Order: sequence, then structure tokens, then C-alpha cells
Amino acid sequence: MSRQSLEAGALRGRCVGALLCLWLAASAAIPSWAQGESGPGSVREQLERARTISYTDHWQKAQAILDELAPRLDEFDLRDFASFHLQEARHLVLDDRSPEALERLRMLLDKPLEDDQRLRALQLAAHAGVVLRDYETAFDKLMAALEIEPRVDDPVAGISTFNMATHLFGRVGQHERAIDYGKEAVSRALRAADTSQECTARQRIASVYAWAEQPEESEAQYRLGIDACRSAGNELFVGALQAGLADLVRSQGRLAEAKTLAESAIATMEEAAYPLGVYEARLVLAATVHDLGLIDPEARAGFEEIADYFRTNGLWDQVARIELLQARVAEEHGESDSAAEHYRHHIEARDQFIDRDRAMRLAYLELEFDTRFKERQIDLLEENARLAQVEATTANEQRRLRTIILLLSIFVAVLLAFLLFNAFRGRRHFRHLSRHDALSGLANQGWFLERAGSMLVEAEREGASPYLVMADIDHFKKINDAFGHLYGDQVLGLVARRLRDAFGTGALIGRVGGEEFAILIVAHRLDPVIEGIKAFQEAPAESVRDGDPSVTLSFGIGRYRAGESLETLRKRTDAALYQAKREGRDRYVVSPEARDDADDSSALQPT
Ligand code: GH3
Ligand code: MG
Ligand code: MG
Repeated sequence: MSRQSLEAGALRGRCVGALLCLWLAASAAIPSWAQGESGPGSVREQLERARTISYTDHWQKAQAILDELAPRLDEFDLRDFASFHLQEARHLVLDDRSPEALERLRMLLDKPLEDDQRLRALQLAAHAGVVLRDYETAFDKLMAALEIEPRVDDPVAGISTFNMATHLFGRVGQHERAIDYGKEAVSRALRAADTSQECTARQRIASVYAWAEQPEESEAQYRLGIDACRSAGNELFVGALQAGLADLVRSQGRLAEAKTLAESAIATMEEAAYPLGVYEARLVLAATVHDLGLIDPEARAGFEEIADYFRTNGLWDQVARIELLQARVAEEHGESDSAAEHYRHHIEARDQFIDRDRAMRLAYLELEFDTRFKERQIDLLEENARLAQVEATTANEQRRLRTIILLLSIFVAVLLAFLLFNAFRGRRHFRHLSRHDALSGLANQGWFLERAGSMLVEAEREGASPYLVMADIDHFKKINDAFGHLYGDQVLGLVARRLRDAFGTGALIGRVGGEEFAILIVAHRLDPVIEGIKAFQEAPAESVRDGDPSVTLSFGIGRYRAGESLETLRKRTDAALYQAKREGRDRYVVSPEARDDADDSSALQPT
């Protein structure tokens, strides 16, 4: 007897999840995760032994080993701890205590398991979910298993995950997706040259093709599956595949072929001592025999037995099928009461099945919705995050821009102020240069005339008559000749300073010729004018070099007459100056109009 049939024998009367129980038995290949470091008699070695026994002999023997290990559970590392509970969970499912198994697995899944053990726990949990018809759990764990499967380097673990995905997605009508998983499982089994895995993978995909109404593909898979299962020595699956193929060819009207296959399936299942398989094959045979018109009383008695078996085990799809068959046969025999009764049973079973099917589809839809909802939520969150980032960037940029603009404005303002100030200073400087004589620092001729003109206008308005003094350096030519032109320039500077000191800021003083100066004084009397000249003459002699002869000036004084021009006033004043020169220099001459009535100004002579 094969490993699987031994296991199936143990399942009899317990595990009723149809082919699911077969799968649990079929995942019997000793997976690599069970092979950890071990020493003789070590916990790991004993766990390994229990696991081997569980798959090759009765699981209760394996459980006995686990029971022996249980008191030492506290000393186990996480891997051994998980290995222990994974095995117990599997035994609990086999012992029809799936709720306890699920609880155990949830406890394990909360721990930081390594990926291979986590995958195993998820597979078992999904399995328990299906057995308990808790499809939400089944799909939830299946999806999680599919997610971590790529990280686990174990072909068997991968194939059994895909097998479960193929079945569950096929059951809820997601045929395309189911077929994709099925194909992947088959190709992995082929790659691993593992006929045992190929056998189970082909069984899975064959039935999905049938549900998807692709009979040719389905038939091909059934036939390849039968070959693979036969060479793997898995008679149980040979029987299951024959039954499935029988049903398929029956639906295509190939009745004789269907009958042979169904009979062969029944024989194989009986040999494997797998009652569920036997009854499923008998159901197919019954339908075929009916199609062939070969129903006899003996066959009809068998129908009742089949119906009872499925009803007892809550397999409502099968109950519905056999009840419908019975109803038709009764109808054909004119037994209308019996026919009505069977139809009623058929409908009840159908409702039960549909409820379960609906629960399964709902669980799937819920999961899909949940997944999509989560995806959408993630999209939304990402979108929000992007938006926030963009806003933050914009705000930052705006802030930076504002700062830059502010700094730039300040810079421009400072620059403008600086330039303005410079321009102002420059203008003032140039204006000063354009109005003053560089050598003496006094007003130049142009500026003197302009200023003097407006001062005269002003004075006239106020009824005043300013005095004009014209001054000329005596024998300046000689100074130049004796000491040089540069020396003469220095003398000009000294003379200018002495004039400023003597006449003060109230007088307008200009250099109006080479060594000629003009002084406009707004005064009511001549006295302050004479005082200015005397102050100049009496000032301590200041010469460029010590011991040089002192420089003298001759002065002519005139007074403004209302209405006359500056030119006229100057001519008159010049005349007085020339007179001073003629009279011996270093003196002043007051023009007649400038003499004070009270004074005898003409008598005034220099010191
Ligand atoms: P007088 O007493 O009759 O005024 O005799 P003077 O030599 O001063 O008069 P004159 O008109 O004959 O000569 C004026 C001289 O002043 C001629 C010129 O060389 C000199 N002079 C005129 N402008 C400047 C100047 O800017 N710098 C120097 N160093 N000499 C100047
Ligand atoms: Mg002169
Ligand atoms: Mg002169």
C-alpha cells in the first residue's frame, strides 16, 4: 500500500473535506524545512522522526512522539517550537479538530517564524479554513502564503501553495487565475522531475479546466495526471482522476468510455480504501448508467446508499446530483410521488450547496475588495504624500523666492542709495569744481559773477548798496620771475587764505583774473570794508619760505548804485584799483560814490 493510501485509511470517517483530505495526505513528501541541524536523540532529530512517521505511518504514532517531547517544549528554540506545533496542527486537522488547529496556527503566525515555516503554517491554516468552510480565513491565508512563497526555496511547498490557489480560485469562478496557478504548479513539478507533485498538480488543473468548460484541455490534463500518479504509485489519485475524467467524457456523450472509467475508478478507490472516492466514482457511474438507459432495481437501491453517504457527510453538491437522478428515474417509472420527494430533496441540497458556494464566493469577493480597497488606499495615501511634498516644495520655494526678492530689494536699495549718494557727492564735487578755482579755493570768475549778480538783486530789493573791492597782487610778475611759476601759485594760495581770513564768511570772494581778486561785501557803511582791507594788510606776514619778501596787494573800492550793472560797478572799482597802483601800490583807493558822507574817505590811506 502506498504512503497516501495509508494516510487515507487513517482519514476514513474523519476528514470529510472531499479531495482536500487527499491533499493533506499528498503533501507527504518530506519537505526540506524539516531537515535542520540535528544530533542523535536531539529534539530536532526526534521532531524529524515524528514527521517522517506522520507521513509514512499513522499520524497518531507521530503524535505519541510529540507527546513525549511536549514537557520539554519550554527549552525549544523557535524553529523546534514551530516544527512541533506545525505537526500538532496538522494532526489536529486530520483528527477533525480544525478549530483547535487554526487556533494553534494563529498563535504560531504571531511569532517571527522563518519564511519556510510561516509558509507551512499559512498553508495549513488555509487548509483548515476550507475544512471549516471558513473561506475568509482560507483565502486570507492563501493570499499570504502566495506572497511569501517566492522567498521559500522549497519546490514542494511552492507547488502545494499553487495547488491550493488553483482549487480555491477555480471554485469561486476565477478560472483564468486558477489555471495560471495550476500551470505554474505543473511546470514546477516537471522542472523538479517530481511525478508525485505532477500528479496532484494535474488533478487540480484538470478539474478547473472542466469548470471553465474547456473539456479538451481538461481531458488532456486528466490523462497526463493519471500517468503521473500511476508512475508515482499514487493509486488514490489515479482513482480520483479516473472519476473526474469519467464525469467529463460522460458530459460529452461518450457514455461507454465514461462507464469503463468510472468502474475502474471505483475499483481503484476500493483498493485504496478511500470511501469518499468510491462514492464519488459511484455517483458518476450512476449518472452514466442512467444516460445509457440501463437502470435496474439493483442500481436504484445503490442510489439510496450513495445519497445517504453524501448527506451524512454534508456534501450537498453530490446529494443534489444523486437526488436529481433519483427524481428523473422515478419520473421515468411513473412514480410521481417519489419523483416529487426527490426533487424536493434535490432543491434542498442544491440550496445548501449554493449557500456554501455563495459563502466561498463572498469570502473571495470580500478579500478581493479588501485588497483593492487597500491598494486604492495606498494609492490615495501616496497621492496625498506626493501632493503634500509638492505643496511643501512650493511653499519652500516661495519662501526662498520671497527671501531672495527681499535680499535683492535690500541690496538694490542699498546700491541705489550708495549710487545716489555717490552721484550726489560727485555732483556736489563737480559743481564745486566747476564753481571754484582749484588753486585758491575761491569762487572762480563765472561763479563770482553769478553769485554777485543775485546778491546785488537781493540787496537792491532790501534797499542796500553793497561794496565791491577789486584787489591785485603787486609786481606779481617779478615774483614769478624771481622764484618761478610754481612759487607764484603757492603765493596765490596764501593770498587767497589771507583774504578769506580778513573779510570773513559774510563776503563773497572770487579770483577773477590771474592775480586779481574781487570781494563783494553787503554793508551799510564803508567801515567794515576798510576794516577788512586793514585786517588783510595787518595780518602777520606769511610767506612761502622764511625770509622771502612779503607780498602786497593794491585795492580799489566801489559801491553799487541802484539799477547799474555789475560790469559798470566793476569798471568803476577797477579805476580805483588802477589809481591805487599808480599811487604807489600796497594801498586802497575808494571810488567817490563809495565814500561815507560822514567820512573823509578820500583821505584814507593805507598804513
Ligand atoms: P602790477 O603790480 O602792475 O600788477 O604788476 P604785475 O607784475 O603784478 O602785473 P602784470 O599784469 O604785469 O603781470 C601779472 C603777472 O601775473 C603775469 C603773469 O605771469 C602772472 N600770473 C597771472 N596768472 C598767474 C598764475 O596763475 N600763476 C602764476 N604763478 N603767475 C600768474
Ligand atoms: Mg594784474
Ligand atoms: Mg599785479
